[in-house]
Parts: sequence; structure tokens; C-alpha cells
Amino acid sequence: MALEVTLIDHARDPLAKLYGAYRTCYTPKTPREVWSEIGEGRITAAQIREFIQERLKTGHASPLEQVVFWFGLSGVSRSLSHQLVRHRIGISFEQQSQRYVKYKEDRLEYVTPKTWARNGLAAEYDALMAEVTRVYQLALAKGVPAEDARFVLPNATPTNFQIMVNFAELLHIADLRLCWRAQWEIRHMVALMRREVTKAVPELGAYLQPKCGDRRTGYCDEPFQDWERCPIGKRRPHKDQIFELFRKHQAGNLEPLTEEDLRRVEDEGQE
Ligand SMILES: Cc1cc2nc3c(=O)[nH]c(=O)nc-3n(C[C@H](O)[C@H](O)[C@H](O)COP(=O)(O)OP(=O)(O)OC[C@H]3O[C@@H](n4cnc5c(N)ncnc54)[C@H](O)[C@@H]3O)c2cc1C
Repeated sequence: MALEVTLIDHARDPLAKLYGAYRTCYTPKTPREVWSEIGEGRITAAQIREFIQERLKTGHASPLEQVVFWFGLSGVSRSLSHQLVRHRIGISFEQQSQRYVKYKEDRLEYVTPKTWARNGLAAEYDALMAEVTRVYQLALAKGVPAEDARFVLPNATPTNFQIMVNFAELLHIADLRLCWRAQWEIRHMVALMRREVTKAVPELGAYLQPKCGDRRTGYCDEPFQDWERCPIGKRRPHKDQIFELFRKHQAGNLEPLTEEDLRRVEDEGQE
């Protein structure tokens, strides 16, 4: 079953909303004056973009809560949904009910991780899902209510959401769930959310990165062994390396450059 992400909508004029929110903090002008400048074009779109980009480099994140996105998410497993609903601030969920929706045979396409086939267990997986489907449907046919029949449904059962999430929380979700340490399915879903936001509002989509991204913290704070295994680990420093460098710098024992190093620079400078 294919995982689908739809960007249903987002706050109208998100960049202007952010500009207004930030500007209100830093100007003696009233919001009415700020918004007149925006409305009358006295502040250009380029100025708005530039102003926001500067603010996004800072830790002043609360204005980002004033821009919201609505997504439709479908074909995700109940394993994913358990993880997604752990996010509790700045996000609101509506999820398909297993009490009111009875899964019909053609809608019982379970989510199948590739690792089952890779490890030669595709047939066992499919057979177990078929047996679950049979027992679930037998239970419904015999009069077991859907809210009780669902007790046999596995984590692989697909589910759908409509969610509303503000940009501050979306950044936080991307920090955690685009990280290579996150589980593959939620990582894939958040990557698709990022893609949709980037298409609609590229200025904001560019900031949806794993927490080690150059527009986020810029370093990895996961266990060192995981950093070593991460496919993008070598492109980002690990926090232990940064602290080590800082300690050496403070102690004044940063390894000095040798004549050999300097000769190498000279050599590389020659065409
Ligand atoms: C790689 C990975 C592995 C995980 N493994 C497990 C696991 O084994 N078991 C498990 O139970 N969970 C696990 N989780 C889920 C994790 O513990 C969190 O529940 C999940 O990441 C969402 O929590 P959040 O604090 O980011 O919530 P959000 O609601 O997204 O938080 C948003 C922000 O608000 C802050 N915040 C939210 N509520 C409060 C509060 N009450 N007080 C102060 N600050 C608050 C958060 O710190 C965060 O900065 C895992 C998550 C990841 C990414």
C-alpha cells in the first residue's frame, strides 16, 4: 500500500504572516502600520524574504507558530501512527477510526517493510496477514463489533490522517524524524511532507532538515557510533568532536601547523 502525503493547504501569505509577527516584536509601529506597509507594497516581497531569512537564523522561534500547514496522510502503518501522535505541541490530528470504519477485503492492504522480503520471509508475512484478515472478517460476520474485531489487527494495518501543524513544530518534527536514526517509514513520510512544503513555500521548505542540517544545529548529537554509521554523518561534525576542539582551543594545545603543512598549502596553490 502506497504512502501518500498531500499538502491540503497552508496559512495564506505565510511569509507576510511571519514578517508581521517578527516585525511587531522589533518596531515601535503598531501592527496596523506594519500591515499597511505590507498591503501597500511599501515593504517588498524581497525585503520580506530577506528579513525572515535573518530571523530564521536566530533562536526566536515563537513567530513560526503563527504559520500552519494542513496535510492529508494515507497508507501509513499503525506503527508509524503510534510515533506520529507522540508529538503533542503545535499539532492536531484526526485519524481514521477502527471503530467506525470496518476494513473491507480490498482495503486490507497491509504495509510491508522491504526487510521481510530481503530476509526471505515475504511468504510468511503475507500468510500471517491473510490469516489475520480472515479472522477479522469472520469476527465481523459473526457479529463481533468492529471496536472489538480490531483487537486482532497488527501494527502493519494502514491508517489515514488529516493533521494541522504549525511551522515551529514541523521544524521540530523534521529535526527528529528526518534524522537517519528515525524509523524508515516516518522518515519517508516526513521527507514527502518536506517535498510538498518546498514546492508550495520554498523559502520555508528549505529549513526542514534533520537537526544536523546546515540550517538547523549543524552538528549531530546522536550516539557517536550512530554518527559513524549514518550515511550523511561524515558531512556533519559530531558534538563530541566540536567539544574536543573547543577543549583543545581553551587549553591552548591545538596542534600547531608544521612546516610540512605549510609546504603542502604552497604546493596546492601552484597550477
Ligand atoms: C529516534 C527516536 C526514537 C524514539 N524511541 C522511543 C522509545 O523507545 N520509546 C518511547 O516511548 N518514545 C520514543 N521516541 C519518541 C520520543 O520519546 C517522543 O515522544 C517524540 O519524539 C515526541 O516528543 P517531543 O518531546 O519531541 O514532542 P513534541 O510535542 O513534538 O515537542 C515539541 C517541543 O515541545 C517540548 N515539549 C513538549 N511537551 C513538553 C512538556 N510537557 N514540557 C516541556 N517541554 C515540552 C518538546 O521538548 C519539544 O521541544 C523516539 C523518538 C525518536 C525520534
